[in-house]
Amino acid sequence: MKLEDFPQDIQQAIIPKPHGRMVYRCLGCTAEYEIKKLLYTCPECSQVLLLHDPDADRLKSTSGAKWRRIFDYRKMLNHTALKGIYRYHEFISPILPLDTIVYLGEGHTPIIEANRFLTEKVGMQFYFKNDGQNPSASFKDRGMASALSYIHFLIRKNYIPNVLAICASTGDTSAAAALYASYLQPTIKSAVLLPHKKITPQQLSQPLGSGATVFEIPGVFDDCMKVVEALSESHNVALLNSKNAWRILGQESYSYEIAQDLEYDLKNKVVVLPIGNAGNITAVLNGFLKFFEAGIISHLPKIIGVQSNHASPVFQYYKESDPHKRKFEPVVVRPSVAQAAMIGNPVSMPRVIQLVERYNTQSQRPNVFIVEALEQQIMEWQLIANRNGHIACTHGGESLAGLVSAKEQGLVTSEEIAIINSTAHALKFSGFQEMYFKNQFPSEFEVVPKSELINSPVLVKPSHVKKYPKPSQPLSGTELNDFIKGVAEEIAQRLKLNKARN
Ligand SMILES: *Cc1c(COP(=O)(O)O)cnc(C)c1O
Ligand SMILES: [Zn+2]
Repeated sequence: MKLEDFPQDIQQAIIPKPHGRMVYRCLGCTAEYEIKKLLYTCPECSQVLLLHDPDADRLKSTSGAKWRRIFDYRKMLNHTALKGIYRYHEFISPILPLDTIVYLGEGHTPIIEANRFLTEKVGMQFYFKNDGQNPSASFKDRGMASALSYIHFLIRKNYIPNVLAICASTGDTSAAAALYASYLQPTIKSAVLLPHKKITPQQLSQPLGSGATVFEIPGVFDDCMKVVEALSESHNVALLNSKNAWRILGQESYSYEIAQDLEYDLKNKVVVLPIGNAGNITAVLNGFLKFFEAGIISHLPKIIGVQSNHASPVFQYYKESDPHKRKFEPVVVRPSVAQAAMIGNPVSMPRVIQLVERYNTQSQRPNVFIVEALEQQIMEWQLIANRNGHIACTHGGESLAGLVSAKEQGLVTSEEIAIINSTAHALKFSGFQEMYFKNQFPSEFEVVPKSELINSPVLVKPSHVKKYPKPSQPLSGTELNDFIKGVAEEIAQRLKLNKARN
């Protein structure tokens, strides 16, 4: 829709101008730092940072109802910079000029309602939000769009020269980083560090295809992260892990989209998501809090974070019900089908601890819960979901297994409606499906396939058919007819098809 066709009051507000101020704020000592340079931890106390808008109160001078109208009308606006996560520009990075925004098609992923079978099986109404339908096929694109737009802004302003962007990854961060960096090449180049043999072939192909320099490191993600941290402390590189607070800002869009897609009515809603490095749950909590504080939503949804019992440091922390006795301990991870969340020492844990407390306070009740799921459950709920029209990855399976567990524990009821996060596309993790179907899981995964969930291709090659076509050797005449008839009959028999009457 053309600008002049919007209602007068909306025309004024629909294309945001860069405004406001942003600072890094330390979660430890609350020191604030300006954003003209890249900063990941507090120079004073080494704690992680979050980005803070010191003048956020100005957002309250626009009513919640007006914001809702602005976002809804922005859906109809054809302006590239505002097509993705920056539909919520004022709540993500208000300082960014629109011509520095990098948009590659991220965000506004669909929410898909569970069919009747799944609804009955789980015992409540729920939707998958398919973040696998982002450009690099995971939710990481949201944060990367934000981080790279910001770096683009710094370069345009001549605050920094050319950039080498670097990250450690369980697979999806590097895919997203390499994709977004490649759009801005040659000014920005990227290098990624991956744990050797701990990411899927699809995920490895992604940064290679985007032209990044790819390093494989023996060990697990936590080891790669330490190397990247050492590099970013001693060298001039831009760190793209979720330690980078700009990533968190972009991922807040996930909450804003849920709010908008549900007509901003979040009463009795439950948002379920897997936790790895805990950047995503940080962002989701922060996002809902921002919309709540600006009066855009009047209820904070319940949040359920899910971890595999093979990598559950956040679950272990909250298992202790007395907040004073809680003590964070990193864990040694074991192999997990939710491989992108196989992290023993989540970088964002301090952010989670603060935000959970604030979220519960604002909700005026406990409203964030962490549950654990077994590998067997994660795998099976993924397979069951996908047999019912979904495209969930193993982490989507983890979310669903977590919802089922939360329901069994009475943390959610059938009166509520859940939106559960499938964080990546099923195809990225199809290797685990294959291991299940071929009964090839190494024992440490603790996954034992059930025959009713196994599916495998059937080779149709009846022995009475004399000749089969081969590459570059097509059949013809009687041989072709015999082949078609023989194979068709065999398939009809196997499917127990009835003959058509005519
Ligand atoms: C990164 C990732 C996660 C974990 O998210 P965090 O922000 O690290 O907690 C879950 N699922 C997928 C597919 C991921 O790529
Ligand atoms: Zn500090």
